[in-house]
Amino acid sequence: MGRDAIQLFVPKFRVDESLDAIRVCLERGWTGLGFMTVEIEDAWKRYAGFANAHFLNSNTGGLHLALEVLKRRHGWADGDEVISTPLTFVSTNHAILYCGLTPVFADIDENLCMDPESLLERITPRTRAVMFVGIGGNVGAYAEVVRICRERGIRIILDAAHMAGTRVDGAQVGTDADVAVFSFQSVKNMPTADSGMVCFADAEDDAAARRLSWLGISKDTYARTGEGGTYAWRYDIDELGFKYNGNSIMAALALVSLKYLDEDNAERRRICERYDALLAGSDRIARVPTAPGCESSRHLYQVRVDERDHVLVDLNQRGIFPGVHYRDNTEYAVYRAYAGTTPRAAAASDTLISLPLHLFLTDDDVDYVARSLLDVTS
Ligand SMILES: *Cc1c(COP(=O)(O)O)cnc(C)c1O
Repeated sequence: MGRDAIQLFVPKFRVDESLDAIRVCLERGWTGLGFMTVEIEDAWKRYAGFANAHFLNSNTGGLHLALEVLKRRHGWADGDEVISTPLTFVSTNHAILYCGLTPVFADIDENLCMDPESLLERITPRTRAVMFVGIGGNVGAYAEVVRICRERGIRIILDAAHMAGTRVDGAQVGTDADVAVFSFQSVKNMPTADSGMVCFADAEDDAAARRLSWLGISKDTYARTGEGGTYAWRYDIDELGFKYNGNSIMAALALVSLKYLDEDNAERRRICERYDALLAGSDRIARVPTAPGCESSRHLYQVRVDERDHVLVDLNQRGIFPGVHYRDNTEYAVYRAYAGTTPRAAAASDTLISLPLHLFLTDDDVDYVARSLLDVTS
């Protein structure tokens, strides 16, 4: 008999604890915004050290809010430029287009993150912000990118969708960004079903994001008149907002996942070290390095191989189902106008494989995946 298929991602939920947390919401009759959403925001601030944290229904909404708030509050014009990476999930770049801003792509370095040299070449007088993506939890040259942005008054937004629990010098990465945005989507390393957290450094930006995530409703207007209790329904709407708020059911799941985040990330790092040791001997498998000093959340374990598409088919035939993170976004019709501007990202797009990485993998599974990869690339 063959073994069970080995999938790329399988989220691990603490089922009884999660059901207990959801039961509290149901018994209280409160599943929406407020209650548990406040608790997860406080818990996340305590855990990660952010000054502000706003729980949302996705990271995608958070990336949009990050740019929308900065654009509206800091006088950016339509068409102003945001420098990003083409090697990411499209949410990062869609957010730029949602805001009527212009994406500009910088190329990647060996960590698959934005290359500071390439960033420097892309900066113009219209550059307002940089979107940095920590691929797989890796910080790459984030610190250098922050320095470049600070020196030039350019805002830095960290797409930390893979970075819950990634630490540098013992501290969660991203607290020095203007905005850091996390994903707690079902297959990320801190799973719920769909939710995320947007963390603004500035308290007024955070307040603006809270209004915009709730359709632009400004409860403050009536609170200020002292009539807030009786006239709670008489809120004002100062500007056009969105429906991006998180809810208490997702927050309940997030509170349980957060309790186990460090333990789970440590197990991910252990699995990755095992892959490293098993694959180290091969000159046909290039392991993607983790930047020195980065304690990565290890959302991904990535390697690069020639004949990638064939390797994937061969692995599938052995019951192994890896992934690809990511296709160069300039291969998609929406971003095709940028094709050819980032050759290193294009090359990575054709060679990358993300090996199965989740908390149900046994050492035997990891050995089997590594052995199979060695086999099909030899
Ligand atoms: C998953 C992901 C997102 C989007 O997160 P959602 O919470 O699903 O909206 C954004 N950026 C990157 C890099 C991602 O991997």
